[in-house]
Amino acid sequence: MNKIKRLSVSAFLLAAFFTLTASAGTADHGWTYDGDHGPAHWGAMTEAFHACESGRAESPIDIEKAKKAPTDMPRLKVNYQPLPIDIINTGHAVQFNATPGTDSITLGNQAYQLVQFHFHSPGEERFAGKDSVMDAHLVHRSEDGKLLVLAVQFQLGDQPNPVIHAMLDRIPSEKGAEFKVSAVMVNPIDLLPKHTSYYTYSGSLTTPPCSEGVTWIEFKERVSMTQQQLDAMQRFYHGNQRPVQALNGREIWEVE
Ligand SMILES: [Zn+2]
Repeated sequence: MNKIKRLSVSAFLLAAFFTLTASAGTADHGWTYDGDHGPAHWGAMTEAFHACESGRAESPIDIEKAKKAPTDMPRLKVNYQPLPIDIINTGHAVQFNATPGTDSITLGNQAYQLVQFHFHSPGEERFAGKDSVMDAHLVHRSEDGKLLVLAVQFQLGDQPNPVIHAMLDRIPSEKGAEFKVSAVMVNPIDLLPKHTSYYTYSGSLTTPPCSEGVTWIEFKERVSMTQQQLDAMQRFYHGNQRPVQALNGREIWEVE
C-alpha cells in the first residue's frame, strides 16, 4: 500500500510542475473587488491605474442596443490548437496560460495569439441588464501589441464543460501558485459556442490598470456548464465582477 502510494506520488511529480511564482513584478498594489481597494477606488490607488477612473472607453458594458455591422467589417476566424495545462491562481481569478505558438485567431488580416484565458463569476458582461453565472475571457495579443478579448457567457445545464472539467482538479488554491501538466491538453475551442454571432466594441481591461484600446468580441450564445462545476469554480473566486461602465457614445456592432 505504502509502496503504491509512493510510486503514484513520484509519477505525479514527474508529470507535473508545481511552483509558487512571486506576484512581484505585476504591480498589483493590493486591489480587490470590495472595500477600500474595490473598483470605485482603483483609479485613486496609483497613477498607473488612472484609466480605471478617468477612462472614457471602459469595460465591461451593458449591451442593450447594437447596430448591424457593415459587410466590409473584418470578420473573426478562430484556429485554436490544443494546449498543455498551465493554470495560475492570480489572486483575482483562475487563469490558464497559453503556450506561445501559432497564430490562433484572425480579425480580417490581423493575426492575434492567445495569451491566457480566465474566469469571472458572475460574468462581467451584461446583455440588456442581465449578467450570467460565469464568463470566460480569452485574451489575445497581436505582434504589435494590440489586445483582443473573446468573451463567453456560461449558463447552467446538464452538459459539463470539457475545459472546466480538465482544469478543476488542477487549480492551485494558493495565490501566485502555478500548476503545469504537459501530458494533459485542452482545446480552448471547447469554451466557445457553436453559433459564432457576436457583438463587438472598443473597451478596456476590466482589471487594473484598465488600459483602453481593447477590441471586445462578445458571443451571443451561451455555453453550458453544470451546477457542480460552477460551485467548484466559485470556491476559488465568487464576486470578481467589475461594475458596468458608461458607454459614452461608443458604438456596439452586431455581427451575424
Ligand atoms: Zn476578464
